Amino acid sequence: MIPDYYAMMSGQRFYYRHKAAGLCVQCGKSPPWRGTTLCGPCLRKHEQSEARCDPDGERRRARRRALWHKRREAGLCVECGKPAIRGQARCEYHQMMWREKAHVKLVRERISGCGKYPGREG
Ligand SMILES: [Zn+2]
Ligand SMILES: [Zn+2]
Repeated sequence: MIPDYYAMMSGQRFYYRHKAAGLCVQCGKSPPWRGTTLCGPCLRKHEQSEARCDPDGERRRARRRALWHKRREAGLCVECGKPAIRGQARCEYHQMMWREKAHVKLVRERISGCGKYPGREG
């Protein structure tokens, strides 16, 4: 297959032909929206596919952060919202899970590192 010929026939040529004709570069049927190269339905499809690429968007992360602080201040577990251990950010269960994770990390560091617990023994 000749790559240039293929690109010309499938992608770019199609794009530029419709753009020049003042039509949506996606479907080539409807005129594009102002300031874009896509028509309404294609624009929506495009936006939806972009949203799928990033389901954990900035807005969602911000909401998660806000929830974290709200729970922390209310003395609730930041993971599940149940009452947390006094002075801790998590409930008994999640504190245990969190410790477990931290411990695994510590052990891994100990194995790969200098052989000492950081900031403690020795
Ligand atoms: Zn279209
Ligand atoms: Zn919890």
